[in-house]
Amino acid sequence: MTELLHMSDNYLREFDAVVKSAGEDYVVLNRTVFYPEGGGQSTDHGTLSDGRRTVDVLEVRKVEGEIRHKLDGCPFDIGVDLHGEIDWKRRHENMRFHTCQHVLSRYLQIHYNVETKGNNITPGRSRADYTPLESFDEDMKRKVEAGVNEILDKNLEVEIKFMPRAEAISFLKEREYQTRYLEMVPESVQEFRVLLIGDYDVASCAGTHVKNTSEIGHIKIGKSKNVGAGVRRIYFTLTD
Ligand SMILES: [Zn+2]
Repeated sequence: MTELLHMSDNYLREFDAVVKSAGEDYVVLNRTVFYPEGGGQSTDHGTLSDGRRTVDVLEVRKVEGEIRHKLDGCPFDIGVDLHGEIDWKRRHENMRFHTCQHVLSRYLQIHYNVETKGNNITPGRSRADYTPLESFDEDMKRKVEAGVNEILDKNLEVEIKFMPRAEAISFLKEREYQTRYLEMVPESVQEFRVLLIGDYDVASCAGTHVKNTSEIGHIKIGKSKNVGAGVRRIYFTLTD
């Protein structure tokens, strides 16, 4: 199994690893800093190099239980030492958008009693789906923007804690974290990665996040549309 270095340090940009297996257009490594697409967050991009050749990493995904780094053709053999580097600009954008989505979701939960149904964090076109939310007019949009920005401006520390399953579940439930997301964590997961945004939000999340909400800037809510019965998709961007 590939060790996911981002789980304990979201700010790592480079790493050394060994090729454990290789396909025509991918490698599996013993460890990686690349974020494998999932949980709503899009893949990291970057490069892998053996010192002679540097190859672009097009996407990283979990396929058949393996974390595969998809390459533009794979020149690397099993056992080779590689140096990897992620596209930090893209990653940091993902971190800012993802932490912001957590704050937006909590804000909507507290003030409008809606649940987050899903999310897609991709720089420049991030969105999340909320239910029950039939409409989202200009007035509400402005209120939510102002409310979320007020939270972001508190410069809240973002902390990651690893907790045993049972402890994490009761910790999260006490703080009104959505049960449907808890239920989505497979039984085999015995340790939870719990994300705390100051005393405002808690979540179970494997994604990458900023250390402080001051890194996010401000939310700008864009268009929204209905994507199912009572489900509204809200798009957002970030400004400084
Ligand atoms: Zn998350």
